[in-house]
Amino acid sequence: MTYVATWVDDKLNKNEIAKLAKDGLTVFDDFDELVKHPFSDVSKDYFMYFKYAGLTVQKPQTDGLFMLRVKIPGGFVTAAQLRMLVGLGETYGKGFLDITTRQSVQYHNIPFAKLPEIFAKIEAVGLTTRGTEGDINRNVIGNPLAGIDARELFDATPALMAVHQKFQGNTDYSNLPRKFKISVSANIDNAANAEINDLAFFPATKAINGRTYKGFGVKVGGGLGAKPYLARTLDVFLKPAQVVKVAEAVVAIYRDFGYRRSRSKARLKFLLEDWGTEQFTEELLKRTGPLETAGKNELVGWSNGLILGVQKQKQRGLSYVGVSVPTGRILTEDLLKFAEIAETYGQNEIRFDHSQNLLIPFLPNNKLAEITSLAIFDKYPINTSRFQDFGMTCTGNEYCNLAYTSTKDITRDLLVALDESFQFEKPVRVILTGCMNACAHRNIADIGIQGIAARDQNKQPIEAFQIAIGGSLLAGGHLNEEIKGKVPKTVLIDVVRDLLKVYADEKAASETFYET
Ligand code: SF4
Repeated sequence: MTYVATWVDDKLNKNEIAKLAKDGLTVFDDFDELVKHPFSDVSKDYFMYFKYAGLTVQKPQTDGLFMLRVKIPGGFVTAAQLRMLVGLGETYGKGFLDITTRQSVQYHNIPFAKLPEIFAKIEAVGLTTRGTEGDINRNVIGNPLAGIDARELFDATPALMAVHQKFQGNTDYSNLPRKFKISVSANIDNAANAEINDLAFFPATKAINGRTYKGFGVKVGGGLGAKPYLARTLDVFLKPAQVVKVAEAVVAIYRDFGYRRSRSKARLKFLLEDWGTEQFTEELLKRTGPLETAGKNELVGWSNGLILGVQKQKQRGLSYVGVSVPTGRILTEDLLKFAEIAETYGQNEIRFDHSQNLLIPFLPNNKLAEITSLAIFDKYPINTSRFQDFGMTCTGNEYCNLAYTSTKDITRDLLVALDESFQFEKPVRVILTGCMNACAHRNIADIGIQGIAARDQNKQPIEAFQIAIGGSLLAGGHLNEEIKGKVPKTVLIDVVRDLLKVYADEKAASETFYET
C-alpha cells in the first residue's frame, strides 16, 4: 500500500484489524492452495476475504457452496461474455442466474473446489468478480442506455469506464470502512438513481468564459437500508476529464475519515451527516485543487432507469428491445436466446439495467417485426406494463444468510396477483426485500416491503413484512414512509391489494402512486 493508514486506533472492529493484517484483494493469491484441502479446513475468520472475490459462503456454512457475483461495469456485456456467463450457470450453478440492482449477475450453489477454474473462465473473457463484495468500490453503474439514448447530455461511458479502471484491483483503495457505490450517468432522467449512491456524477452544464460546457455535478453520501439517506449535492462542476480525479479524492476521504469502529456507522452517509457538505467540500478541494462551482443541474425527471419495450435509439434506423425479467431471475437457456438475437441481428451486445432487466441494443428497425415474433418473446412479452415488469426483489433466505424471509417466490406470487387485479396506465413499483437492508431498492419504491422477524399467537416464528409507501427519486427524492404494523405472509397479497384498491379509487386520472 502506498498510503498511510491514518485511522488506526485501539477501538477498530475485528474486520478492520483483519484487513490491516491482510489486504482483501490478496485472496486471489490463496485459491490454488485453499482448494487442495477440504472446505472444512477453512477458518470462519477467513470468510470475509472471500467477499473480495465476489463470494459469499452460503448456509449451511459447512457445505462449501457459494454465491458468486460477476462485475459488469455499466451493465455492458458482449455476446461472447454472455455465452460464458450462460456456461457458468449451466456447468457450475443451478441453470439460472440473478440480475442484480448494480447491473451485474450472480449465481448460487457454486462449489468451492471449482473456484480456480471458474475465475479463469471469467477472466478469460475480460470480466472479473474482484470487488463485487467486500469493503471496496463495488460495480460502477450508469445509464443502461448510454450511447444510444436521446435523453442524455452526452455518452458518459468513457468517464464510467475510466472510474472503473482507476479502482479495479487498486490496493490504495481496497481497504475502505465498508462498501462504496459509484454511479456515472449523463441521462437527464436520472437513469442511474444518483441519490442512492455513495458518489454520483450526474449531468450538468456550466458557462465558463463565454462557452457552455457539458459535464457533471456531484452528489455524495446516498445509501439505502435501515437508515437510508439521499445523496447531497456538492457545489462543484466537473468537465468529464476531471471525474476520475474527483472520484479518487472522494474515495480517499472515505478511506481516511470513514468510521471504522462500528460497521453499522461505517458508510460515507454517516461521515457526511457529521461533517456537512461544506466541510466535505473543503477536504475535497484540498485533494483535487480548485474546481468550478456548481453549474446548472440538468436532471429534469426520473426514469428509474427503466428500459422496457421496443424503443428507438438516437441512431437513425436502430432500436433496442428492453426485456422484462420478473424478479431478475433468468434461466441460462433463455439468456442464451437473447445472446443469439444480439449476434444475429444486433452488434453482439447485451446490457443489464439496475431494475433487474436486460436490453438488446442496435437492432435494425426493418428487422423488428421478425425479432419480436421469435418464440422467446412469448415467454418474455414486450411492450407490457405489468406489476411484474416494474417490481424488484432481492435474494432472500433461499440463499442469503441475513434474510428473515424468502423473496423471489413471494414477490412473483404477489406481482402476478396484482396483475390479475389492476391495470394502471403508469407503473406502480413494488419492491420486496428479505431484511432491513435494501439490496433491492425498497426505500424508494412506491410500495416497499421488508421482511422482518415475527412470531404468531403461539410464539412460533412466521414470515412477516413491514410496508412503506410513497418512495421516489423525483425532484431530489423522497424516501417511502412506513405504515404501522406487521403483515404476516399469509395475508400479504390481500393487504397490498387493499392498498392499491384505495389508490385506484382515489387517484386523479394520470396521477402516479407517488403523487397521490
Ligand atoms: Fe439478503 Fe437483506 Fe440483501 Fe435481501 S436485502 S439480499 S435479505 S441482505
